[in-house]
Amino acid sequence: MTATPLVVLEDVNKHFGQLHVLKDIQLSVQSGEVVVVIGPSGSGKSTLCRTINRLETIDNGRIMLDGKELPAEGRGLAKLRSDVGMVFQSFNLFSHKTVLQNVTLGPIKVLKKGRAEAEKRGMELLDRVQIADQANKYPAQLSGGQQQRVAIARALAMNPKVLMFDEPTSALDPEMVQEVLDVMIDLATEGMTMVVVTHEMGFARRAAHRVVFMADGEIVEEATPDEFFTNPQKQRAKDFLSKIL
Ligand code: ADP
Ligand code: MG
Repeated sequence: MTATPLVVLEDVNKHFGQLHVLKDIQLSVQSGEVVVVIGPSGSGKSTLCRTINRLETIDNGRIMLDGKELPAEGRGLAKLRSDVGMVFQSFNLFSHKTVLQNVTLGPIKVLKKGRAEAEKRGMELLDRVQIADQANKYPAQLSGGQQQRVAIARALAMNPKVLMFDEPTSALDPEMVQEVLDVMIDLATEGMTMVVVTHEMGFARRAAHRVVFMADGEIVEEATPDEFFTNPQKQRAKDFLSKIL
């Protein structure tokens, strides 16, 4: 079967001034696929995520979602942003809104859903990330792990085609990491298309269909988790793994 990949990057290049942060990136993600992106700090992983929903411009190359080239700006961009969900290291919840309001705001404002419908679905999503009992609290009243689960529910509320996670557990206290990874593993199992930047190799082994190793702005190696962790091919990948495993 040769389905059109959901996300395709072709020859994508990006500079910040003199710094070449993305070098001829080629990447495709199939529908239902979980791709884990790993690599040293500064290798361009966050920039890669941000280019996929146009939080960053690119110098050249093409980015396609569901077979259509992404608009760099204009009206198509809001639609695109709702198709590509983002979960960040720092949660980025709206602090003056309740948990439920955080989850319903996008559907009401952007997707033009009615409040009752948005709240019903919002509660279902909060239930899915096991936090429905906190719906009327404010983010500051929640633990980091709970806040990140709200951020995941908020992203899901927009019915994204793909969810991007940029180090979603890096800001969490160690005891809260697993509760967030468990939600992500559930989503992966249910067939959500996900691109996950993470240092959690247990998650990569368990949930990833493919590991993409980046270094110095390049995709250096791509393999199944099994191949990558047991038999990395490139020296840079071997060096990286020897430091983290
Ligand atoms: P990673 O997520 O792998 O740590 P990043 O994508 O954040 O890497 O960064 C890649 C490189 O681009 C780093 O050298 C970083 O300092 C630089 N960089 C990232 N964002 C900016 C920016 N807005 N302006 C200038 N340089 C940036
Ligand atoms: Mg980063």
